[in-house]
Amino acid sequence: MVGRLQGKNAIITGAAGGIGLETTILMLREGASVLMADISEPALAKALAKVKEVVPSSPRVETIRCDVSKEADVAAMVSTLDSWGGVDVIFNNAGIMHADDADAIETPEKIWDLTQNINVKGVWFGSKHAVQSFRRHGKTKGSVINTASMVALVGAATPQLAYTASKGAVLAMTRELAIVHAREGFRFNSLCPAPLNTPLLQDWLGDDKEKRFRREVHFPTGRFGEAIEQAHAVVFLASDESSFVNATDFVVDGGLTKAYVTPE
Ligand code: NAD
Repeated sequence: MVGRLQGKNAIITGAAGGIGLETTILMLREGASVLMADISEPALAKALAKVKEVVPSSPRVETIRCDVSKEADVAAMVSTLDSWGGVDVIFNNAGIMHADDADAIETPEKIWDLTQNINVKGVWFGSKHAVQSFRRHGKTKGSVINTASMVALVGAATPQLAYTASKGAVLAMTRELAIVHAREGFRFNSLCPAPLNTPLLQDWLGDDKEKRFRREVHFPTGRFGEAIEQAHAVVFLASDESSFVNATDFVVDGGLTKAYVTPE
């Protein structure tokens, strides 16, 4: 059976984390060749071992250390795929939610800058170098998926102002990129996950029952999302099945952003 991503070369940033790793596994299963990029080399090594265990006959999977906030790193990451035939898909997924991120009064400026550098500038660099690679290799189609968040769509009284602002920027930037490059066949969509069972959020929530309840009460489904549920959406956006899906805020949230009163 031919995979849904057969013949495509994909880059995934934040590939050692929750969503990135699940997406790597699914993309390989669908026949893509994948370059896993992350800032943490030990985490990448662990993630690669897991990938090799669950997809032993994967077509091609490699890792690269990349800090997405550094343009030279992103350029090197993207040009790695020149010898593979160029990029077809990039999933700009690396992001942080810093423990010191708070409201307008308490958020330290250095945390604001760090968050924008990784979550916004990282997505810009990834998008920019992907477009350059698409053009260099004469691609008539390409798919860029940028991870935003549900908090870019609805306000929360549990503030993480730098994070929320960064994800709003991802939505606006992705939308504009989509329109600018539409006639070249390059698609840009944002992924908007709800709160998930991944280290990014769960480490931060820890054993704090009150903090958890503040969130769980709003879930129509009564649970956090799973990374694999995001990965399935990313595979769709990466594949040609979504050829007419462009500039969307692709929301995968169990109905959270559409809910007023949730079931008891
Ligand atoms: P995660 O913390 O499990 O993974 C994030 C990965 O990004 C980590 O492996 C980390 O090492 C890497 N990373 C951090 N800074 C980097 C940098 N400068 N360059 C390259 N890699 C870097 O988190 P996740 O839940 O898989 O999150 C992935 C994306 O999903 C993030 O953009 C996050 O904001 C977004 N998101 C997560 C949730 C959630 O509840 N987990 C909800 C909405 C959106």
